[in-house]
Amino acid sequence: MTLTRNDFVELDKNDPMAHFADEFHIPEGVIYLDGNSLGAMPKKAMARARKVIEQEWGHDLIKSWNKAGWFNLIEKLGDKTATLIGANKGEVIHCDSTGLNLHKLVAAALDMRPDRKVIVMEGSNFPTDNYMVQGLIRQLGRGHEIRFAEDGEILGAISDDVAVVCLTHVHYKTGHLHDMDAITKKAHDVGALAIWDLCHSAGALPVDLNGSNVDMAVGCTYKYLNGGPGSQAFVFVAKRHQGTAVQPLTGWWSHEAPFAFERDYRPRTDIRQMSTGTEPILSLAVSEVGLDIFMRADMDEIRKKSLKLTDLFMQLIEEQLDGYDFKIVTPMQHDRRGSQVSISCNNGFPIMQALIEAGVVGDFRAPDIMRFGFTPLYVSYVNMWDAVERLRNIMENGSWDRPEFKQVGAVT
Ligand SMILES: *Cc1c(COP(=O)(O)O)cnc(C)c1O
Repeated sequence: MTLTRNDFVELDKNDPMAHFADEFHIPEGVIYLDGNSLGAMPKKAMARARKVIEQEWGHDLIKSWNKAGWFNLIEKLGDKTATLIGANKGEVIHCDSTGLNLHKLVAAALDMRPDRKVIVMEGSNFPTDNYMVQGLIRQLGRGHEIRFAEDGEILGAISDDVAVVCLTHVHYKTGHLHDMDAITKKAHDVGALAIWDLCHSAGALPVDLNGSNVDMAVGCTYKYLNGGPGSQAFVFVAKRHQGTAVQPLTGWWSHEAPFAFERDYRPRTDIRQMSTGTEPILSLAVSEVGLDIFMRADMDEIRKKSLKLTDLFMQLIEEQLDGYDFKIVTPMQHDRRGSQVSISCNNGFPIMQALIEAGVVGDFRAPDIMRFGFTPLYVSYVNMWDAVERLRNIMENGSWDRPEFKQVGAVT
């Protein structure tokens, strides 16, 4: 049966999560489908930033390291994130960027498997993961190599010469979802360690790191977790590896007794060993606001709505844009995808620019992918209808073909 706009209005009326949208600032008229790249701003972020600047920094100054809990914020936030990714208290902290943390984890894991030289990675992964490991290998100079494999080839690439399997759970471009459980099990069967990047999973779908016996993980907080631009990443090390897994960026925050100011390094044996040094507190503090919204939401409900939004979006694309050069590359199967829909299209870049101009914000990933992210906390069902309608208008009137939509900025 063909859908009408009213079907979507009805779905919104019956959506148990609809009230969360009020907690985010979305500019008037904008349909924001890019929360997988930069999450929307929680309205309370401003008050939190103001408090950190005026009170904690402005008034309390250095006392805030204790009084406002600045020093322990990395663990406090980590314990909250842990509840979203199937980890326990004391297994997660927030610090540094995803890339830096991945460097630390892979270095620590390689030291735990000194006789093995191979790291299995997905060649088409978000490049920084591969770049960081390539840099690490060069720096170590111990003859490590990356064995690149694509979706469908991963299990076959995991043999008993592998030290580490390092993959991103949901693919940034296509949105395909790897079987964390099966891949981690295969890694362990051959004696390797499994490191997962959760950049496009945390806050997008339920993740069960300990349920899958994962060894280590990292992820962004500025995407689905709405932490703010450049907010610190999180890093997970399973309890059983803490004390054995030692990362090499051995700054004072990871020292057993940072305020003893000893001459020589002694690693902590808890998750804080994964930190390095003084964190940008403003960013860290503000990112807690987004996390606190998740503490009141049910991850299973989020997943349910996400799948429904993406199912409907794909259905509308097929119904209403039949005859144009759009091909959905995200798997249809629920257990094979995250919370995004990617569409390949030859003129994807100017079409996306025209769409953004029309108030539907997605993004473009070279060479030909139009990418739409679905964040159930603040995206509504009627947004699906309106977004596809605006896209259809752009296609019908050909406005995407205007020269201004073909200029490429520094960030796509
Ligand atoms: C977004 C993303 C990153 C970002 O890394 P930064 O160090 O924060 O710049 C890394 N890996 C993946 C898979 C991502 O999707």
